Amino acid sequence: MTLVLAALLGVLGWTFTEYMFHRFLGHEYAKYTEFGTQHLHHHRDQDYFAPASAKAKLSVVVSVLIGLVAVPLAGWTHGVVFTASLVSSYLIYEFIHRDLHVRAPTGAYGRWARRHHMAHHHTSPGLNHGVTSPIWDIVFGTRTTSDSVRVPKAKAPVWLREAKDDRYAEDYQLFGR
Ligand SMILES: [Zn+2]
Ligand SMILES: [Zn+2]
Repeated sequence: MTLVLAALLGVLGWTFTEYMFHRFLGHEYAKYTEFGTQHLHHHRDQDYFAPASAKAKLSVVVSVLIGLVAVPLAGWTHGVVFTASLVSSYLIYEFIHRDLHVRAPTGAYGRWARRHHMAHHHTSPGLNHGVTSPIWDIVFGTRTTSDSVRVPKAKAPVWLREAKDDRYAEDYQLFGR
């Protein structure tokens, strides 16, 4: 196995972790975990993100656990590259997720990722558990791809709520006050 493959598997491993954590700890078994409590708080108030300290703690625990499995399976170098790639992907996810809520889209990926995640927040919390990719939603049949997402204006992200023109009309229907 080349190191590039180990790194790519780390990215894929993150997208799987993202899906599983979000779907099961964040929603289906939310009431049993602190992760779930924090995540439901984020659903009630999109400007709320779990404290960095909680995220740091969880990411250290998860990376040690993943490293403990990956190193014996793939050897030191490949195991460490896989784990480092997965953890880096997690950090990139953190930036992307925050961006989806606080910054207007630029580019096709940003536009897709916002529509995908806003559909999860506003119309179908049981669907679209992937945030950075739709891969595992496709695999597990939890993807929704409505053309236009209905979002209550009062809960819309600020970039959508305060858009000066109707540039997002194709992707979102705002309703209410
Ligand atoms: Zn979110
Ligand atoms: Zn959620």
